[in-house]
Amino acid sequence: MDFELNAEERALAETVKHFIDTRVEPRMREIETRNQIPEELFKEAAELGLFGISIPEEFGGSGLSRFSRVLVHQMLGRSGFGFAGALAAHTGIGSDALVSIGTEDQKRRYLPRMASGELRAAFAITEPEAGSDAGSVRTRARKLGDRYYLNGTKHFISGGSRAGVITVVARTGGEGSKDLSLFLVEPSFRGFRIGQLYETMGTRGHPVAELIFEDCEVSEENRLGPEGEGWIAATKTLSGARPLVAARCVGACERLIEISTDYAKTRKQFGRAIGEFQAIQFMLADMATRTEAARWLTYHAATLADQGHPTMESISMAKLFASEALAFVADAALQIQGGSGYMADNPVNRFYRDARVTRIYEGTSEIQRLIIGRRLLRG
Ligand SMILES: Cc1cc2nc3c(=O)[nH]c(=O)nc-3n(C[C@H](O)[C@H](O)[C@H](O)COP(=O)(O)OP(=O)(O)OC[C@H]3O[C@@H](n4cnc5c(N)ncnc54)[C@H](O)[C@@H]3O)c2cc1C
Repeated sequence: MDFELNAEERALAETVKHFIDTRVEPRMREIETRNQIPEELFKEAAELGLFGISIPEEFGGSGLSRFSRVLVHQMLGRSGFGFAGALAAHTGIGSDALVSIGTEDQKRRYLPRMASGELRAAFAITEPEAGSDAGSVRTRARKLGDRYYLNGTKHFISGGSRAGVITVVARTGGEGSKDLSLFLVEPSFRGFRIGQLYETMGTRGHPVAELIFEDCEVSEENRLGPEGEGWIAATKTLSGARPLVAARCVGACERLIEISTDYAKTRKQFGRAIGEFQAIQFMLADMATRTEAARWLTYHAATLADQGHPTMESISMAKLFASEALAFVADAALQIQGGSGYMADNPVNRFYRDARVTRIYEGTSEIQRLIIGRRLLRG
């Protein structure tokens, strides 16, 4: 496999990198403090077409390949996971099911406004009693005439409080992962409300919300895909988004290595730059090696998907390895800066806090290991 970027891919990556480094990163401290992303940054992102990368051209997006989407997410990761997370939920789990299995009418109603950034998207499967065991969703959708009535609670939903459309997984039949269906829910639908907004350890600016459905009325036109086939679509959505998480981890690692090498060259102790000590060089070497391996696994998973044969193990390996690489790299980057790294206004400190969630959401590290292990045993 050849991962050499062509001219178009290089230009795409460079554009997003420039936007993140010059427009987003300088405002991250403000975003952290206010726990809010300024609307003008979203506007600029929309002008660059970043809301439309997962949406086909006929609906106003750019319909990027999986590989190009990975490149965009890699560059988004350079500012950590706050701003990046907001775009990630929209361009990954929030839009993928609608693009894959939506009807022409559903696509026409939602996708153009999603591509322009007017309408933000979220995806809600997790519930208080259904986390890693996502197939045990309890939210029920009862059908009466041509309407469904949803009852239940979703929690930890990225961007759920700001979304204009949410893909919701609900049970339309018996127990287990069969008999689940997907619904497109708008916040204005009767019976829907936002519950609590959670205070998080990192990813500030990008709130996670509780969503409450009390006889929430959804017309049949807003059922996404056939009734009872939601589980397959939901798992495809989640596995499609995992290389994007991996890519953001790679981008974050790359930025941390830049910060760390700069620091190692300029910080002096015992009369010389700390980068002259082998202990620091070894840390940098391990950071770079893990990042490079994570990048290759991520590009590999995306390329297989573009070639039409994505594999669960390539996806899980990329997500597992890249998120664990980031944990290592963020920890080492903080160590290289000593006490300065521990201070709240140091960007390394932000990456360290943001990094933690990447081993949890979109399938924990343990779940990725289960997927890889089971594939190996199945032969
Ligand atoms: C910031 C953030 C954003 C999120 N955004 C979204 C979102 O937009 N939409 C959405 O639907 N969800 C979202 N989630 C939810 C996320 O996907 C879940 O938190 C995650 O899947 C884990 O579920 P859980 O928290 O219930 O943990 P649990 O499933 O209770 O897991 C607890 C621990 O047990 C381990 N474990 C569980 N089962 C097994 C097993 N079979 N074998 C080995 N170990 C196991 C887990 O790995 C973990 O270490 C988000 C979560 C966070 C923190």
